[in-house]
This record gives sequence, C-alpha cells and structure tokens, in this order.
Amino acid sequence: MDSTDGRGKVAAVAGAGPAGLTAALELLRRSAITPLVFEADGQVGGISKTVNYRGNRMDLGGHRFFSKSDWVMRWWQDILPVADGETETDAAVRMSYQGRSSDLVPSVFGPRSSDAVMLVRQRLSRIFHRRRYFDYPLKLNASTLRNMGLVETLRIGLSYGHAQLIHRSPETSLEDFLVNRFGDRLYRTFFKDYTEKVWGVPCQEISAEWGAQRIKGLSVTKAIAHAVASPFRSQADTAQKQTETSLIERFLYPKLGPGQMWEEVAHRVAAQGGSIHLRHRIVGVERRGLAVTAVKVRDQATGSVRRVPCDYFISTMPVRDLTAMLEPEDARIIRISQQLPYRDFMTAGLLVRKMNSTSNQANRSTENGMPPDNWIYIQEPDVKIGRLQVFNNWSPALVADPATIWLGLEYFCREGDDLWSMEDGRFIDFAARELEKISMIDRRDVLDGTVVRVPKAYPAYFGQYSEFDKVRAYLDAFSNLYPVGRNGMHRYNNQDHSMLAANSAVNSIINRGQGKSAIWDINADDDYHEEIDEVA
Ligand SMILES: Cc1cc2nc3c(=O)[nH]c(=O)nc-3n(C[C@H](O)[C@H](O)[C@H](O)COP(=O)(O)OP(=O)(O)OC[C@H]3O[C@@H](n4cnc5c(N)ncnc54)[C@H](O)[C@@H]3O)c2cc1C
Repeated sequence: MDSTDGRGKVAAVAGAGPAGLTAALELLRRSAITPLVFEADGQVGGISKTVNYRGNRMDLGGHRFFSKSDWVMRWWQDILPVADGETETDAAVRMSYQGRSSDLVPSVFGPRSSDAVMLVRQRLSRIFHRRRYFDYPLKLNASTLRNMGLVETLRIGLSYGHAQLIHRSPETSLEDFLVNRFGDRLYRTFFKDYTEKVWGVPCQEISAEWGAQRIKGLSVTKAIAHAVASPFRSQADTAQKQTETSLIERFLYPKLGPGQMWEEVAHRVAAQGGSIHLRHRIVGVERRGLAVTAVKVRDQATGSVRRVPCDYFISTMPVRDLTAMLEPEDARIIRISQQLPYRDFMTAGLLVRKMNSTSNQANRSTENGMPPDNWIYIQEPDVKIGRLQVFNNWSPALVADPATIWLGLEYFCREGDDLWSMEDGRFIDFAARELEKISMIDRRDVLDGTVVRVPKAYPAYFGQYSEFDKVRAYLDAFSNLYPVGRNGMHRYNNQDHSMLAANSAVNSIINRGQGKSAIWDINADDDYHEEIDEVA
C-alpha cells in the first residue's frame, strides 16, 4: 500500500462503467478504503456494457480493446487472458496501430474452450456509398475508380483543384474549413451529410476551429480526402498520416462482448470487499464548503432515498448532473454545465436470416450474404442510419445461432427527438426498412429485433464547452471530489482513458490529494481512436 492505507474510510463511486469499476478495484488493491459503487442501470459496464437480447449479445458501438498504455493492456489481460491459439506463435500478439507494430506478449493464456477469454480480432470496416462497398481507408485504386466512376472522380479532382486556387475567406464555418481543404464536391459527397448526421448540426453552424480540432477524428472523410488528395501531398504529410490512430488493425475483444470485462471486474470488486449497488442512482451530494460529506442514493426499485456518508467521492456521472447536485454559489457554473452539448445514440439490433450481396462484395461475403466487416460506415444520403455493426464478426460467441446474422443499426440522435421517441416496434421496422432501402436485406428475412437507447453517448466539444475550464476549476477546488471518465470529465474518452483517469484519481487519493491535475492530462490532446464516423 502507498502513503495512506485509508483504513475505515469510504469512497462513494457514482457509476459502474469502466471508470467507476477501475477506481473501485484499484482502491481495493492499493488501499484499505472501501469503495461503495452506485449504478443507476440494472447492469454494469456503462456504455461499454453488453446487452443480452434472447441470447444474442449487443455491443453498443463496437468496442475495441486497445490502448497505447501498457498498464491498461496488462490490466485487461489480468482480468480476461487472451485465448490460447489466438496468436500464430502462442507467444506474441502483434498489435499494429499508428503505423507501428507492437508485440503484446501475454504472460498467460486462457483455455480456448473457456468463455472467460479475450480474442484477437482483425479489424475490417468499409464504407457503403452508392450501394457499393469502398475500402477503408479509401485507396485510389481501380476498384475505387470503378465504384466512383471516372467522371465523378474527375469532378472531385477538379473541385479539389478549384478549392486550392480559390479559397473561401474568411474561413469561419466547418463548411468553409472542409471546402477549402477538400473541395466542394468531396465535401458534399462524404463530409456534409455524415457530419450533420453524426452531430446534428449543419456544417455552416459549426466553427472552423472546431473543424481544425476535430478533423483528425473524421477518419472516413479523412481517409477519402487523403486518398483523393494524396497525389498532391508532400512526403512529410504522408508520414504524419501514418502515425494516426485510424490505422489500428488488430485489437483485443472479450469473447462475450465488452461488458464481460466489466462484469468480471465487478465480481472482483465484490470479492475483495467493495460493494456494487445496481439500480441505485445518486440523486444528491452533501458538502461542507469544498468537501463532499455524503451522497444521497435512490433505490430505483423502492424509490426510497438514503444518505451515505463518504470520505471521498469519485463521480463518473455527467458533469451536468454533478454540478447541479453541488449547488455552486456561482451561477455561471450551473449555466455552463447545463448547456454542455451531448449527442445521443440508438441501436436497433436486427437478427436476420440472410443478407443481400452487392455486386462488388459477393466474393467477400459468406453464403448467407454476411459481409466480413466488423462495421460498415453508411454514407448514403437517403437513409438516417450512420453505421452498421456485424456482431458475428466481433465474436461468433455473441450470436446464439451461428446460421443467423446479428446486426446493430446505429443512429446518432438527440434525446427526445423523433427517432429517440419512436415506439420500439416502429423503430425496429423503420431500421429494417432503411436497410432494405439500401439493398442490404429483404425485410422478410428479419427474424427478431430490439432497441437500445444510449443517452449522452458523445460529450460534444462545441457551444458552451468553450467555457468548460471554469467548471473544471470549480470541481478541482474540492478536496475530496474526483470527476473521472467520459461524461464525468466531459471528455471524448475511450475505455482506456476512463480507466487511466480513474487510476490517477486513486493515486491522488492515496497520496492525500497530491497530483490531482494528472487526471486531466489523460487524453488531453484529443488523441482518441473511437470512431463514430469514424467520427467519435
Ligand atoms: C458508439 C461508441 C463506440 C465506442 N467504441 C469504443 C472502442 O472501440 N474502444 C473503447 O475503448 N471505447 C469505446 N467507446 C467509449 C467507451 O464506451 C467509453 O469510453 C466508456 O464506456 C466510458 O466509461 P465511463 O466509466 O467513463 O462512463 P460510462 O460508460 O458512461 O459509465 C458511467 C456509468 O455511470 C452511471 N451513472 C450515471 N449517472 C449516475 C448516477 N447519478 N448515479 C449512479 N450511476 C450513474 C451510468 O448508468 C453508467 O453506467 C465507445 C463509445 C461509443 C458511444
């Protein structure tokens, strides 16, 4: 144990997602502080949970287990070892990312027959545009030219050339930013609709600075732009591109989906003396000055609220909720945090008997038409679907009947909008019709379906976010409060970032409040690899 063992002390933890559970397990491993985890949902895992629908498991978004942090990679393998036989040599797993390869050498393998293991998966994701599959990242090869058509390719090239000669000035909006860099035609073909679909805001209303900050996350479009523009680019540019995260090709994946990792962690937390209270929502925080003294927890089953005194409070709940509960004296803090933007997310799980092969993918699909991709970016302007997950290809164990195809149709939306509010049955039908419209399935092949809504899936960096530093300063002033995680920090965190932030919070608790700012240094350079268009 480090500098304080914290015997008899209690840490209340809001949320049993990756951040909350990592904090709880690390506290148990490295101190005598007891973590009490309160989770509003009926299961653990947060956004990284696995939803089990009649034996078919859904991963909300498709979670790659990959980190540049060796600590995280080891941590995951300590919970779920890599399955025996997943590597060619049984010795090293070659993870390639950021244009580099790194050998992950598992110290222990799990039996292949066991469910409690991780698989090594090879990423395949393509773009579906004009009812055809395009390679991702897009390559300027014969197949792309065939798919686009020579005339369209020429038009894009001309439009790109035009944009290089005549710049939009001043460059105020994201539209200006993108047109200036990629030309109007390419912008309209691949950027405009998709960006607006993902973020729900017209590109003219998003600032150019935001584009400059975010464009490195717009990988589909980036890939396309790169391919089209590459003949005009310098060597240095190309080298830099190779260091970008979209080149990740291999990743770890729990056999039963991402939630399996967090279910295992929850077992360990409970076994080591922590407690996890499902369906318990933190609804209030008591404080004395700038120290949290207790949380108020509502049992969702009975509605009763109880007061839980605590010495530390680790919060992964949305910043907006936390600040409201703290009742800051400065009204600005409330105003800013209440207006922090989010994007919400819905997935329709569709179980289908078979899919239609398009002419240019027939040779890559299986007998029942299932494409080989983990996920497919849908870049078709006549449908609202953003991405399609093929769960069979993440792990065959996610699917109850291997003869069926288990799909996730992902929609970016806003809590309360028309999509979000659609009654489940209607939404499933709507989603199936969309897939039929783009010729991927026949609706009569749909066997079953379900819907999962994910509020605040994406903390967004526009609007009031520009004043977030004030909220952060207010939260940081508390002596025993640790906001961590994705919504907890309003940061575009992947699992590993959330875990690293949680681990930093535990370090700081153990070191009597020292080193708190390290929490905010994680993922501070927007260097993320989760993909919502890829965008997220
Ligand atoms: C579409 C999509 C794809 C993604 N892909 C990847 C990927 O490939 N790889 C990767 O590593 N990451 C990926 N991520 C990111 C990953 O899901 C998150 O980084 C991770 O789940 C964040 O963990 P967290 O604990 O910070 O927050 P969350 O997962 O949001 O967990 C927070 C928990 O707190 C609970 N909670 C909230 N308020 C309260 C309250 N008042 N009281 C009690 N409980 C409360 C919530 O119910 C939730 O369970 C993806 C995310 C999305 C949306």
